Amino acid sequence: MKVPVEPVSAIVMDIEGTTSSARHVYEVLFPYARAAMATWIEQHGDEPVTREAIAEVAEQLGVDSTNTAAIVAQLVQWIDDDVKAAPLKTLQGLIWQEGYARGELTSHMFDDVPPALRAWHEAGIPLVVYSSGSVAAQKALFANAPDGNLDVLISSNFDITTAGPKRERDSYVRIAQALGAAPEQLLFLSDIQDELDAARAAGWQVVGVLRDGETQATANVDPLISSFSELDLHAG
Ligand SMILES: [Mg+2]
Repeated sequence: MKVPVEPVSAIVMDIEGTTSSARHVYEVLFPYARAAMATWIEQHGDEPVTREAIAEVAEQLGVDSTNTAAIVAQLVQWIDDDVKAAPLKTLQGLIWQEGYARGELTSHMFDDVPPALRAWHEAGIPLVVYSSGSVAAQKALFANAPDGNLDVLISSNFDITTAGPKRERDSYVRIAQALGAAPEQLLFLSDIQDELDAARAAGWQVVGVLRDGETQATANVDPLISSFSELDLHAG
């Protein structure tokens, strides 16, 4: 059965548990970044983005930015604890980008996602990604989708450094302003109830996503979907 949604001026999507499996993140992406972190810092520590991320970790730890051992240990601990720290997200994004480029990583998308994104894009609805993973990581994940480059369909990306935390209303206010869109014409898709609540508090339309096997999902709103193919969407 199709779930009708009011006309929208953009669709904003979560990644983990929504377009892509959380298990892929925890079983493939996190371990890859964990294994590569020390080498990455050793080889790229002089490059501006990496240097800035290292400086941020050093500041939080109260150590000198040359104390690579302490910095790597903290980054690995954050990966193990799934802490959404901005410098970690930045470094992970860079490491994954290189992993995709080397052919050592492929991303995951649920089967219904690519055709839905293509159809919505074709219908003239701008597609937006909002994830706590860095914008670089988001773009790499969509660009390396199993059946081709989907990043070309995405018109904007937001992360915790550009929009703020995903469970806070203000982040959704910020995204609406950045998109120049009326909040009631924005549709947010996520598997996490706190995120849906925050978007709804900002005046957005929301649809919960509950996919088979995604055990961390908490979405409990009406409507709820288990596949993007269930949505009946029109451009607003
Ligand atoms: Mg999610």
